[in-house]
Amino acid sequence: MPQHLLFGGNILSPTLEGSGYVLKPLEALLIRDGKIAAAGRLSEVEPLATPDTQRIHLEGRTVLPGFNDAHIHVWKVGQLRTTLLDLRGVKSLEELYCLVGARAKTLKPGEWLWGRGWNEALLAERAMPDKAALDRLAPHNPVLLTRTCAHIHAVNSQALQLAGITLETQVPGGEINFEQGLLYETAYGLVFRAMGEPSQAQYEHWIRAGLEYLRSLGITSATDPAVDPPLYAAYRALEARGELPIRVNLLYIRRPDGGSETFPLPEKHRSDWLRCDSVKFFADGGLSGATAAISQPYKTLEPPQYGLLRFAEEELLELALEAHRAGFRIGTHAIGDRALDQVLRVYERLYQEAPGPRHRIEHFGLAGPEHLQKARQLGVIAVPQPIFLRELRANYLRYVPDAWLARCFNLRAMFEAGLTVAFSSDGPVVQQVEPLKGLQAALREPLVEGNQVTLEQALWAYTVGGAVAQGDEANRGTLEVGQWADLVVLEGDLRDPYSLSVHRTLVSGIES
Ligand SMILES: [Zn+2]
Repeated sequence: MPQHLLFGGNILSPTLEGSGYVLKPLEALLIRDGKIAAAGRLSEVEPLATPDTQRIHLEGRTVLPGFNDAHIHVWKVGQLRTTLLDLRGVKSLEELYCLVGARAKTLKPGEWLWGRGWNEALLAERAMPDKAALDRLAPHNPVLLTRTCAHIHAVNSQALQLAGITLETQVPGGEINFEQGLLYETAYGLVFRAMGEPSQAQYEHWIRAGLEYLRSLGITSATDPAVDPPLYAAYRALEARGELPIRVNLLYIRRPDGGSETFPLPEKHRSDWLRCDSVKFFADGGLSGATAAISQPYKTLEPPQYGLLRFAEEELLELALEAHRAGFRIGTHAIGDRALDQVLRVYERLYQEAPGPRHRIEHFGLAGPEHLQKARQLGVIAVPQPIFLRELRANYLRYVPDAWLARCFNLRAMFEAGLTVAFSSDGPVVQQVEPLKGLQAALREPLVEGNQVTLEQALWAYTVGGAVAQGDEANRGTLEVGQWADLVVLEGDLRDPYSLSVHRTLVSGIES
């Protein structure tokens, strides 16, 4: 393997010194066998180079550890880039219906029309899609249009029929609006199952498309936060063939949507490219669609709504405890204050029962002082999505009670409470999965002025934070000797996040 010497740029390693986040400057990096072999002053590193070492002058560019996206639905990102009808960024129902009608014309009768990404807060009509319109536009095809949050789905009559859903159907942890053709939370599982599980080859295709795209954005490792058995098999197959372009960590689902069955704990797996020793639970829904479980009613909704808790607490505890005892990390989706209360109580009881690894809370959206303090005490890792502040801002302003806007995705409060924070995008819930866009939002676009974080904190959370969240801080996240040479090279001025772009991405010191 060739050696590389990187120098002549702004080489920075995010570091936490005491309670202060800093970007440790380095003059040179020596890369050997895919890892960082030396780092520091050029005068110290250069003599370690050999005659065949490739010398790379950075011409003033910035080098950081590759970004780690701690929560991104990789296969769905790939699916949207290949086969799915992309409804992200659509501005009106009229436009949405137009796209659906056009797609329907390309399908054979009976084929599923699956789209994703609509967000009623961004639609001119401020309304959700309607079953009657979808029936008219796609009379011969079942239609499933997933909202941007993936917690609400619009369907037509044929889809309802295939899923066996009638006016009387009830689903635990979900709701069905039969008249309008809207499925909330776990009700989606009924339709998903009627569609038939995608083949492993399809999953592999989507995963690769997703991961290659992430790599182009400077992401060198990522966590796929909702993996079921067929998806796990696809990841394992890709890994066995050496076809994973970046490193992946998996959160394995225990309770799939639309059912009360429980998947057994998966076989643990750990290699240089793929890791699976975590499980995932959903405690509630999303804020942007007003399904996160909160204790004050959502704004502008009549009758008053408080969102949904997916689990009875004892049941969540039982499933979590089994995983905790077996040494699995746990990542639980929790956004509303009622969900955070529940999950933190459950985590506390886990540690009372037995010691275990640090667990995480995905999103951590409406955390108040009591949640921050309890999370800190339990060593819980917070996994928020800075880009939500940009892309879902209109939803938050529309639904979140005014008194809580200041705590809504308050990234600064998470750092100030002393939490370990791992940044992520939750793509394709958002359109912009680029870490550089997330960085902009974290630094310059807080929901309430004063809640922004520093550059040092944001870069730490996008690199080391994700590594810690998956137990990989010994091999990635910084530019210390012994870490993987997974790097991103940036153009632009770090002091102006809007000026930055990805110049190249290296994984194991190699540009794909
Ligand atoms: Zn997610």
